[in-house]
Amino acid sequence: MKQRLLFLGPPGAGKGTQAERLCNAHGLMHLSTGDLLRAEVAAGSPLGQEAEAVMNRGELVSDELVLAIVEKRLSTQAGGWLLDGFPRNVIQATALEPLLAQLKQPIEAVVLLELDDAVLIARLLARGRADDNEAVIRNRLEIYREKTAPLIDHYRQQGLLTSVEAQGSVEEICSRIEKSLN
Ligand code: AMP
Repeated sequence: MKQRLLFLGPPGAGKGTQAERLCNAHGLMHLSTGDLLRAEVAAGSPLGQEAEAVMNRGELVSDELVLAIVEKRLSTQAGGWLLDGFPRNVIQATALEPLLAQLKQPIEAVVLLELDDAVLIARLLARGRADDNEAVIRNRLEIYREKTAPLIDHYRQQGLLTSVEAQGSVEEICSRIEKSLN
């Protein structure tokens, strides 16, 4: 199976759940910028204090801050990894490329998890995270469309994109993802 992966897809598509399963099953590092940022917020670090209000509005924290977090993790990782929630815009994707080139660790596949908006919103409302009320959810979906969705074409043009239907049981979706990575 491919070892250096990136998950793309709207909030609520199940990226975190699927990433965790796939990483446990295949010994990959799960690099979720959202999880890392939430840990900083919980710890009350200066970085967390800076990020918290932005996250609670459903907006994106600064590229510099996120890039610093990712760079530190990737440069100390010898094995495979899965990027979840990063890159979130073209600036981050563009900054990632020279870093991976320098590490001689190019991305091998980008998995796009696809799901209808109505299902996404229902899933997010059920999750009950601090940034999961309806107004914030709509804001996050809008930001996804405007800033993150352009990456779909970016990676399709590089021949890296594989699309997976993210509806069904966790197991079904997981096996679809695994098949797409062989
Ligand atoms: P997630 O867990 O991926 O849904 O991320 C939760 C929140 O963390 C997002 O709504 C953003 O505020 C912030 N965040 C996570 N990843 C990034 C990123 N790559 N760039 C900017 N903000 C991010």
